[in-house]
Amino acid sequence: MTKLLEGKNIVVMGVANERSIAWGITKSLHNAGANLIFTNRQERSYQKLVKLLDKHEIEAKFIVSCDVANDESIQQAFNEIGEKVGVVHGVVHSVAFANRDELQGEYANTSRDGFLLAQEISAYSLVAVTKAAKELMTEGGGIVTQTYLGSERVIPGYNVMGVAKASLEASVRYLAEDMGKYGIRVNAVSAGPIRTLSAKGVSNFNEKANVIVEKAPLRRNVDQDEVGDATLFLVSEMARGITGEVLHVDSGFHIIG
Ligand code: NDP
Repeated sequence: MTKLLEGKNIVVMGVANERSIAWGITKSLHNAGANLIFTNRQERSYQKLVKLLDKHEIEAKFIVSCDVANDESIQQAFNEIGEKVGVVHGVVHSVAFANRDELQGEYANTSRDGFLLAQEISAYSLVAVTKAAKELMTEGGGIVTQTYLGSERVIPGYNVMGVAKASLEASVRYLAEDMGKYGIRVNAVSAGPIRTLSAKGVSNFNEKANVIVEKAPLRRNVDQDEVGDATLFLVSEMARGITGEVLHVDSGFHIIG
């Protein structure tokens, strides 16, 4: 039986280590037969990714450097991807950043620079990446980003990142409209709290995770593999009728008042 993503070239952005949501996604995409292309920023993440791929016997087509804060870097990365594989069928955007000291206390204390930085890396980057990827997605496909409930509700301490995620989710809808005519779908997964390197920067992580166990319909937290499978679904043809959507993978927590 042919696998869901057999022969499809998928770009994964945002594996920092084994705990990264993008690593859970990588495993799901690999199991579905995808050809994987990775982008990363820091040398440290590059080294971790190479080791992880080796350990799990996953073969990457190649890894290319990409700093989403820089338009040239994005363009160069996608030029290289275009030269090497020609067509891209999917992009996983799993990238965000905010200053740690703005992820605690009052949102009202957010600095102008801190606000702009969070927006730039966590929301605008999806716009810039979509523009570059579109040129290579000539057969259509799916772009999927990662968001969090702090965009819809006030989650204490999530602050400037919650506002960036609101902007990200609105971008998903506007980009979905733009890309639809090219057969490209744009969606987001809204994951429950998962202990990752980035999550360490968010204050009161334990409280956020405990409340899920207490109140969510499934009475447990989700993990990277569950987010991976939902992302795989949205990237794949199984979700061919879905675009502009935010799919919650959070044990149902978002429905509870
Ligand atoms: P990780 O720290 O594992 O991943 C974050 C990634 O963002 C890293 O790979 C990092 O690359 C990358 N990144 C940051 N700045 C840049 C940049 N300028 N250019 C390119 N890449 C950059 O954390 P998560 O897996 O938790 O985060 C992935 C996504 O999931 C984020 O959007 C996050 O907001 C979202 N999310 C996380 C939740 C959680 O509870 N963990 C819940 C819901 C959503 P590098 O290491 O090279 O700097």
